[in-house]
Amino acid sequence: MKTKNNKIEYLSKLANLLAGAISPITILNSVNKLFKTYLKTEDVEFIMWDNNNMLLKDFIRDVNFLDDEVQSKEMNYKYNNLSVSLGENFYFNDSEFKCEFATSDEYLIKELTTDENVIIYPLISNKEVYGLMRIKTGKRTYNKEFFEIINTSSKLISGAIINYNLNEQMEVSLNFYKAMKDIAKIIESQYELSYIIPLIGEMIDRFMHSHLIYIFICTNNKFKLVWPTNCKDKKIYSLLKKINIKNDYILSEDSATGVFPLKAEGKILGAIAAYSNIDKLNRQEIDYLIQLTNQSGLTIQRANVYAEVLKYATMDALTGLNNRRQMELRLNQEVANAKRNNRPLCCIMLDVDYFKNVNDTYGHSAGDLVLKKVSDIIKNEIREYDIACRYGGEEFLIILPQTNSKEAILVAQRLRKVIENSQTDIRNLRIKKVSFLNVTVSIGVCSYDKNMEAEALIQKADKGLYKAKSSGRNRVIYY
Ligand code: GH3
Ligand code: MG
Ligand code: MG
Repeated sequence: MKTKNNKIEYLSKLANLLAGAISPITILNSVNKLFKTYLKTEDVEFIMWDNNNMLLKDFIRDVNFLDDEVQSKEMNYKYNNLSVSLGENFYFNDSEFKCEFATSDEYLIKELTTDENVIIYPLISNKEVYGLMRIKTGKRTYNKEFFEIINTSSKLISGAIINYNLNEQMEVSLNFYKAMKDIAKIIESQYELSYIIPLIGEMIDRFMHSHLIYIFICTNNKFKLVWPTNCKDKKIYSLLKKINIKNDYILSEDSATGVFPLKAEGKILGAIAAYSNIDKLNRQEIDYLIQLTNQSGLTIQRANVYAEVLKYATMDALTGLNNRRQMELRLNQEVANAKRNNRPLCCIMLDVDYFKNVNDTYGHSAGDLVLKKVSDIIKNEIREYDIACRYGGEEFLIILPQTNSKEAILVAQRLRKVIENSQTDIRNLRIKKVSFLNVTVSIGVCSYDKNMEAEALIQKADKGLYKAKSSGRNRVIYY
């Protein structure tokens, strides 16, 4: 009676612990703790068969369990044949084992050659062995009850491990769908490839845990790496050479590396490469990468078209200010005017401080809202005949015709103060606990001198801005 109660108490404790286990390490710790207390065993470890790589792995550290030599095809083959080796001896990790005990779908495998007593018990799901539980028992004898407990435990443990693996997969899927949505969304406000591509790269990176991601863009029929800055892997370059418009992807011989062409309207725009020197790309990852490259191809194509159209337009899409091309035109006109009429002319160059932090902390949508807010303030604070432009990412240039340096500095100071005291409303983004953002700006101011070219004027303003940054930010420097 006493042992029966013990057994029930033990199994319910194990079930409870495993139900709350959310990581390999907590699963292992739960099992270890209970085995030690109730069964008086020593350490337990789990060895998993990775179907994707055809390798045995340590469940806890997710690394190859066996060294290269042992991790040979032959060993894997023998392990794979576990399910048919019932009653026979087999080899595992250089030791000989025997399957000793069996009912319909249960095996007990006992290590035959070591001094120490080790029991290897298979972890089974759907009648397939997908892993091993290796229990050090110390020198001792086992009774029938011990085996019964181990047998029931192995089923509970299998359940927990399978649950964990499914959760992992689900998380990959969630990250994938989020990346798809985000990539589709970028196009609404962004048209600069130099800005879009790192975003796409980071999004893909987030769910491809075991692979490095690279993005290439075609220029003059050659693949040029655009993200990240370095790619030394020769395998990728040789795969890129094989790309043609008909393929959705090309894999290396070992299936660990793959290239996925970025296509639109029958043209190859570039490629996304996934590289690993051990982990194979599995079916799901390949499917996801195909879908993501399709979406990215379209996004890049639309960005190209949009950029082409915008080249001839005058407005910046995100902020509604003059775009850079328009700025160049207007600045040349104003410089010519100042020269001809001997009138003063000033420029203000404004850059948001630590803007990268805003993107990194609250996301790019929040960053976009901040840029809109800053542009709205600029529009509000300047005179009708001043010309405000989006110069680049978070930099703005304001041309002030018929304005002397004193007045320009006043305008700049006013802008700086209003921005410092304003808040960007980000409640629509539903970010936990954050409703408003504050930013400051650094400003360089300069004035036109006789015979100066437009380009020199911008450089002067930029130098002022640089000084404002280096001397502490949130300030105005006249250069
Ligand atoms: P500093 O105070 O020195 O100016 O630091 P910073 O972080 O503002 O400067 P940095 O130049 O490192 O960062 C500018 C960032 O602006 C990097 C880029 O990702 C981001 N950016 C550029 N264009 C856009 C855009 O259209 N939207 C958003 N959200 N971010 C943008
Ligand atoms: Mg900045
Ligand atoms: Mg900047």
